[in-house]
Amino acid sequence: MDTDSLVRPNIRMLKPYHSARQDFLSGILLDANENSFGSTLPGVTPPLNRYPDPSQQALRSRLSELNGVPAGNIFVGVGSDEVIDILIRVFCEPERDSVLLLEPTYGMYRVAASVQNANILSCLLTEDFQIDVPAAKKAFNASVKIIFCCSPNNPTANLLRTEDILDLCTLNSIVVVDEAYFDFAGTPSLAVQIEKHPNLVVMRTLSKAWGLAGVRLGFCFAAQNIIAYMMKVKAPYNINALTGAAAFTALGNVRLMQTTLDRILDERRWLAGQIAVLPRVRKVYPSDANFLLVRCTGAADIYSALAEKNIIVRNRSTEPLLDNCLRITVGTHEENEALVNTWKEIIG
Ligand SMILES: *Cc1c(COP(=O)(O)O)cnc(C)c1O
Repeated sequence: MDTDSLVRPNIRMLKPYHSARQDFLSGILLDANENSFGSTLPGVTPPLNRYPDPSQQALRSRLSELNGVPAGNIFVGVGSDEVIDILIRVFCEPERDSVLLLEPTYGMYRVAASVQNANILSCLLTEDFQIDVPAAKKAFNASVKIIFCCSPNNPTANLLRTEDILDLCTLNSIVVVDEAYFDFAGTPSLAVQIEKHPNLVVMRTLSKAWGLAGVRLGFCFAAQNIIAYMMKVKAPYNINALTGAAAFTALGNVRLMQTTLDRILDERRWLAGQIAVLPRVRKVYPSDANFLLVRCTGAADIYSALAEKNIIVRNRSTEPLLDNCLRITVGTHEENEALVNTWKEIIG
């Protein structure tokens, strides 16, 4: 498959900005009009008066070691948000090209596509929240440049079947698999499949299992030509020095990540059992993520009543297939107990 032909012609031709720090990261640096006297935040490591590495070599090689994917197959962005945005800007010509969404799913795909003025085609998941492959293939046409698959899916909490995702990879389109919740599923990543599938992009983030939502770091794995297009389109210094250093250090704390991950999984089990027997709960869906999808009777009222008691969950009821569904993040044991106890008190 020739994925170059899926790229917008102007991006294929684009001559990217050439930044000073691309050539030299050390020496007597008089090339970038930085302030050699230092920053106005003295004592901060790394020193902030210098522009950061535009190609994030240290960070990408650490991500490479951790994930068994070569650094040349990794793109790093300001959260998955930036990765999604750049993918759409690389592949979707405004007004002409489309993205295909498998809904209900993460809302950012639709927003980012709308910002680019790309068309949005949508196809529903099945009743058990899997890809309806025949329906997706029927919805597909030559204008579709990206198919977004979220696995485990937000807000339905389940993994999508790998064979269905790979089936979509036979279509002439980029297939993005958003693995934001991958760590909570305990199954192999699709990252290894990028070698066999030149149109597959696998997205990750440090916002969930790594506990770094405030740092804003997302990344993706893909064929080298796709990574090269993304690098051309991104802002030269998209990952700032503080974010880069924080992410690099945190990625050395694999065991700490694993410890909190295990605690979240314990809490997920406990919370699912507790919620299942609460009044007006009809179903707690199985979860491969760090949240639970809960079908209730009168979800909107429950949502408001909880919010009045300062317990904030997400009401997903207006989305297709999610009538009367709340999405509840697994918190600490104290937070989960507060949710369960408050629910028992105020919901009859
Ligand atoms: C939370 C989440 C992300 C993370 O986005 P960041 O911009 O990296 O914080 C990505 N995808 C999905 C489906 C999510 O739910």
